Amino acid sequence: METQKPITSLPGVGKVRAEALARLGIETTGDLLRHFPRAYQHRGNVTPIASAEHGQICSTMLTIGTHPHTARLRGRMTLTKVTAFDESARCTLSFFNQEYLGNVFKVGQTYRFWGKVEHRGTSITLTSPQWEVCREDRQLPEFVAVYPLTAGITGKMLSEMLVGVLSNPEIQNIHDPIPERVREKYDLLPLAQALRDIHAPCDYAVLDRARRRFIFEELYLFCLAAQQDNARPAAEKVQKISAVSLAPLFDKIGFTLTQAQQRVIAEISGDMTGDRPMMRLLSGDVGSGKTVVAAAAAYLALRSGYQVAIMAPTEILATQHAAYFTPLFEELGYRTHLLTGALTPKQKEAVRHACREGELDVVVGTHALLTDDTVFANLGLVVTDELHRFGVRQKAVLAEKTEGAHVLYMSATPIPRTMAHIMYGSLDISQIDQMPVGRQRVDTFAVNENYRQRLLAFVAKQVEDGRQVYVVCPSVEDKEDFAEDDGSTVPMDFRGHAPPQLPLRSAVGYAAELQQHFPDYTVAFVHGKMKSEEKDTVMRRFYAGEVDILVSTTVIEVGVNVPNATLMIVENAERFGLSQLHQLRGRVGRGDAKSYCVLVSDVQADSPAHARLNVLCNNYDGYAIAEQDLAQRGPGDFFAVSGGMGLGERQHGSATLRFAGMCDDVTLLEQAVEAAKETVLS
Ligand code: ADP
Ligand code: MG
Repeated sequence: METQKPITSLPGVGKVRAEALARLGIETTGDLLRHFPRAYQHRGNVTPIASAEHGQICSTMLTIGTHPHTARLRGRMTLTKVTAFDESARCTLSFFNQEYLGNVFKVGQTYRFWGKVEHRGTSITLTSPQWEVCREDRQLPEFVAVYPLTAGITGKMLSEMLVGVLSNPEIQNIHDPIPERVREKYDLLPLAQALRDIHAPCDYAVLDRARRRFIFEELYLFCLAAQQDNARPAAEKVQKISAVSLAPLFDKIGFTLTQAQQRVIAEISGDMTGDRPMMRLLSGDVGSGKTVVAAAAAYLALRSGYQVAIMAPTEILATQHAAYFTPLFEELGYRTHLLTGALTPKQKEAVRHACREGELDVVVGTHALLTDDTVFANLGLVVTDELHRFGVRQKAVLAEKTEGAHVLYMSATPIPRTMAHIMYGSLDISQIDQMPVGRQRVDTFAVNENYRQRLLAFVAKQVEDGRQVYVVCPSVEDKEDFAEDDGSTVPMDFRGHAPPQLPLRSAVGYAAELQQHFPDYTVAFVHGKMKSEEKDTVMRRFYAGEVDILVSTTVIEVGVNVPNATLMIVENAERFGLSQLHQLRGRVGRGDAKSYCVLVSDVQADSPAHARLNVLCNNYDGYAIAEQDLAQRGPGDFFAVSGGMGLGERQHGSATLRFAGMCDDVTLLEQAVEAAKETVLS
């Protein structure tokens, strides 16, 4: 089957529709087939009309009782009404501007309707429900897919186009990226079947099986790509580093290194003084002290006469790093400068010039350091913080620029070693699995809505004490993210043990509420849909202590260090993975003041979702939590490190992962890894 055929080759798709489809990323029939549903309406789950609650969106099976009647309204509007009934009650259906329905609905005929039920006094109405005719000869689908849409494209259009493509016998020949041998070995559906089932599943088991195949496919391709991306360049060249004493550096640091820090520094120094470029991932919980390890690596490179580049994903993190490294290295006699987009063009040019001429030893900056006009005279080491924020494309640029240079990636996401090997392929891995002594424990509590007033009082207490507070919400704006996920649909990423759909707090909405509640405090919000300059401005104000309460989605920069923040509140904590919650908790407790983390969730006290929150209340070691997360929820969350939960697509390196984040089965991941290895070897 030809999946590269332009979408206009389908009947009924002209220029206008093709343009609309292009906005959804659909340009070929192959794109259409891989325009996956977001959710499903479980229309086979029929509710007697009398037992539907007011406002409930549900499926009903109703027989038409009267001839439709159309009234003309103001403008050119029409309102078509018809009464219908089932065994439980009678109701009124009304449709705007669908006069043609007068000729469609036949008295005595039964239809399946999907829509919002409203009780008005004793009468029941359904306004503009979707409908399907019930026929003897054909069973109605159990699930109806809900697709991401755009203006000019309805779900019905997509479904009809898909039915056309999927029922074409040629689909059997569609190219399957999973070789048959692998499919057979791991019992996976062929692509054609899986596509049919994911677009129109007839029950949960079928949906689950199709989804499983796509999860596997993504993990398998991810692993294949990871093996290639991370393949080490032949070590033709290596910046030769001599082993020297680190004592002059450590003298300036003012604390004793933990054993874990000493161990990873030894690993790094072993790499750097070896005969091929280092490619190492330094993973360590927030606060475990990665910065000083990076400083040690930098010192080694500097002492051998090389330049060092230190990169962070955001301006604010880069600025923070510069504030630490500049005085440290200047004191040791090395010239250090910050290079970010915030500098004027003239300043930038001056820094670049110094860098090119070798007049600068350490450059701290954002990923903008990688642009073409930054040239190093003699680069020996690149340190990049927050590895997961770093795209594969940038990695490639880095590799090009740094021929022979050593590379140290840092990540604050504690992940189980097995996962780290899968996700980062052939990087060597060092873990700082121990915290500096005397580090305070952030007391953690799981509470429900009943504690709201006490929680607000606690917020006030912190602010009155001159402290700052973080509040994390799962969504950006009220309703917006979940417009159709109102509990009536089954989201594509549902898991067997998915938490119930509780109402979600939004960053923008809750910030407004808090500001109203605390008129004397400064409340600000920050979220992923803001421009990065706007985000940086807010973060800078929080950093400077000008904002008391910062409400955000999880975009708040994971590395940001505000020692004065003593309270982290996570709303709808049931929506987050354990590792993610642990990371959020790491935002506080960075100063001397006693700090707290409060997980707010209305999940039932005896539910598995609540048990997960308790893991966090009783556990403070990021690696232990990550292991539990892996065991309980599967590996999916590790592929979703930077995203919101289950919302749309996740970016991981260059690959857009739609399914990997749904993987709740470690075995499936292990199989995908094994299959990828077998494929590479065969
Ligand atoms: P992260 O791993 O999150 O980047 P940092 O390097 O920022 O952690 O370290 C967090 C804090 O702990 C810093 O204030 C740092 O000075 C301090 N620190 C790091 N290592 C030690 C240690 N061995 N003993 C005491 N304090 C330490
Ligand atoms: Mg750090």
